[in-house]
Amino acid sequence: MTNKYMYFIANWKMFGSINSLNSLDKVNKFLKKFKKKKFVKIIYCPPNTLICSMSKMLKNSLIKIGAQNCHQNTTYGPFTGSINPKMLKDAGAKYVIIGHSENRLEGETNKLINSKIKNALSAGLKVIFCIGENIKEKRTKNTKKILSKQIKFGLNKINNKKDILIAYEPVWSIGTGIIPKPNDLSETIEFIKNKTKKYKVLYGGSVNPENIRKLKSINNIDGFLIGGASQVSKKFIDIIKKTYN
Ligand code: PEP
Repeated sequence: MTNKYMYFIANWKMFGSINSLNSLDKVNKFLKKFKKKKFVKIIYCPPNTLICSMSKMLKNSLIKIGAQNCHQNTTYGPFTGSINPKMLKDAGAKYVIIGHSENRLEGETNKLINSKIKNALSAGLKVIFCIGENIKEKRTKNTKKILSKQIKFGLNKINNKKDILIAYEPVWSIGTGIIPKPNDLSETIEFIKNKTKKYKVLYGGSVNPENIRKLKSINNIDGFLIGGASQVSKKFIDIIKKTYN
């Protein structure tokens, strides 16, 4: 691990109630005492229902808040059930995840993702842009082709290394407990960095306290996007601790 600092992004998905916020106390306390805290950037992406309360609770914390998706418009409009990036910012979000495979599966196209990214940036949010191949694409050795396409169209007419983090999340790894082989992962991360001219690249997919030592040994990774394990504060803290020792 040679990076200056690492990102740990918690994606709570469609989990969490107002009571779940209590668990953040532990993470906050841990972070205050953590000797390596200046090397750590933590971002919590709860469901939209919790963004406002979470951001109030973490007002003076090093932890930042993100959302899990947004509408492609920046203005208000008749889009029942949707939330635009300005509204997320107003609620306290600083980041937004865009292009998560669970949303791509629901029909999000690279074109739609590109317009979401542009408008989220213009609203002043930072973007966690997810890309990744599915199992069929991996088996047919199309990973690089798929990633290239997702990057080309997702980042079309966008060049913003400062406000975009790329999260490489192989779909076959999300929620399955299976992680890529270290050499494959290192090669893919390098491929993405070269393709995007050195954006920061995180890894996501079944990261947990048991496999983090293996993952952190891949020295070109800039951090982790963590789903299931981030919902249990002890696991999330263990992942951070083990990244640094
Ligand atoms: C995710 O959904 O972004 C994710 C990484 O999930 P998990 O850690 O549960 O595989």
